[in-house]
Amino acid sequence: MQITAHPYTLLLLSSALVSGVMAFLIWGRRTLKGALALAALMFELAVWAGASAMMWSSPILDTQVFWLNATYFGALTVPITFFVFAMQITDNDRWLTKRSLLLLGIEPLITFFVIWTNQFHYLFHANYKMTYVNNFPELSWTHGPWFWLNSLYSYAVILVSITVLLRAFMRAGPYFRMQLGTVLIGGILPLAANIYAIFLPNSLKGLDITPLSFAVSGLIFAHALFRQGLLDILPIARSVLIEKITDGVLVLDMNGRVLDINPAAQRVFSVNGSVHGKDIRILYPQWTDLIDRFLKEKEMRCEIRSRTDESIFYDLIVAPLVDNRGRDNGRLITFRDVSEKKRFETELEKMNERLRLQLHKISLLRDALREQTIRDPLTGLFNRRYLTETLERELSLAKRKGYSVSVIMIDIDRFKRVNDTYGHKAGDQVLKALGKIIQSRVRSSDIPCRFGGEEFVIVMPETTVEIAVQRANQIRSKFRSMKFFSGGDAIIPTLSIGVAAFPTHGNNLEEIVQGADQAMYNAKALRNTVMVYGEKSLKRHKDMIVG
Ligand code: GH3
Ligand code: MG
Ligand code: MG
Repeated sequence: MQITAHPYTLLLLSSALVSGVMAFLIWGRRTLKGALALAALMFELAVWAGASAMMWSSPILDTQVFWLNATYFGALTVPITFFVFAMQITDNDRWLTKRSLLLLGIEPLITFFVIWTNQFHYLFHANYKMTYVNNFPELSWTHGPWFWLNSLYSYAVILVSITVLLRAFMRAGPYFRMQLGTVLIGGILPLAANIYAIFLPNSLKGLDITPLSFAVSGLIFAHALFRQGLLDILPIARSVLIEKITDGVLVLDMNGRVLDINPAAQRVFSVNGSVHGKDIRILYPQWTDLIDRFLKEKEMRCEIRSRTDESIFYDLIVAPLVDNRGRDNGRLITFRDVSEKKRFETELEKMNERLRLQLHKISLLRDALREQTIRDPLTGLFNRRYLTETLERELSLAKRKGYSVSVIMIDIDRFKRVNDTYGHKAGDQVLKALGKIIQSRVRSSDIPCRFGGEEFVIVMPETTVEIAVQRANQIRSKFRSMKFFSGGDAIIPTLSIGVAAFPTHGNNLEEIVQGADQAMYNAKALRNTVMVYGEKSLKRHKDMIVG
């Protein structure tokens, strides 16, 4: 084959070289989303420009036609590759299904056959002519109907791609907007060049500037890729996130079939390999009732316990997948392992419970302590300190409300003898018995106290002297009737009781207590007697004694 170096050859070869190097560099970063498509695009352009260069270098018509046809090895798939690239970097790759790619590939495949069988039907290129211009062989040709059909198709695909980029550009934030803007310029440039080359071929002296302009685009894409960080952080991040995220992500259609599942969710459901399209309830029957609930209820959030490991808990969020027309297409289920948090919460609850119990205990102890400080341990009655506190309070209340308060002072007669004769313990029993008698004869509003030794005081709010004397006599008589000791000369303990009342016998605590004490002292003269403060007659109350 004779090689003649047409000036265009060099131009196209450098373009092929630039595209080839670009393809190689981008291939090195193929793990990034969109990089593989961009590398393929650059490779196709390198083929296109390379074959073009070969065409311009040949002086033989058949060879020229061969290389012209060979340019389509690259050119035919350029629109589809660009489309894939645009869809991927705008995060629209859910549309790139096997089916849609196959459908897109039908036209280029047919065109490929049309090109290589052109000599039988001339549908793609109607005729070829080789002429010498400035001593250089040049191939010129006219386009057949299939060529126009293919161009129409290619433009349509590229226009769709540019629209997708444009839409993403409008929606993007300022940073991504810069990158997408660069990609847009890189995409529009060769399109414009191609239209120009097809419709005004004469102005370019037969040179197709499309692959050349694509080389320029390649440089623009390289700028976006290496300088602006395109593909590094662009929408790829989202799908990578879903893959890497520790939260489980499961996407189901309305029939419970898996549309998408990330590795974290696969671990939870103990499934691996391709489970797409399979019913999750069959793959993981443990969750059948839950999945049914998710599909029935549109939105929900709940915490569930693992059906296989009791110690694992998940926080589950279910959201509906609603499309633009408001149709319910399925459910997005995300779940997070909250076992650690749960364990912490349970521990905290237990600690709280323990604390509650301890607080309860403390409050019981405090009550008991308070009881101890106000009660006399032997008889269970209130002690003197409590009496002083309450009597003061009762008196001021009585003053305000205008009612009377009676005070009864009780002393056991000849108690020393009881102790001396029967022992201290026996004396204690008598004290206890008197405590019980007093307790059983008072109302709930009365305050019975052990004043000290064998002396007792009862404070009776809203009680007249008469009633108090009556009550005192009941106590006295009950005590007298008790058979504490046996034997012919057994001691029969009795009580001497004095009664005084507010406001009749005094205005303050001291006066009333002293009054009652004085009355009790007076009663001592007779023993087994109740006396009211200031009363002279000793008989009156003594007469009421029964037995
Ligand atoms: P009077 O008829 O004049 O009241 O004579 P009395 O012996 O009862 O009088 P006194 O006040 O002299 O004696 C009170 C006695 O009560 C003295 C003490 O031994 C006794 N006593 C005081 N507290 C207790 C106690 O808690 N238990 C016992 N068993 N005896 C007590
Ligand atoms: Mg006494
Ligand atoms: Mg006494």
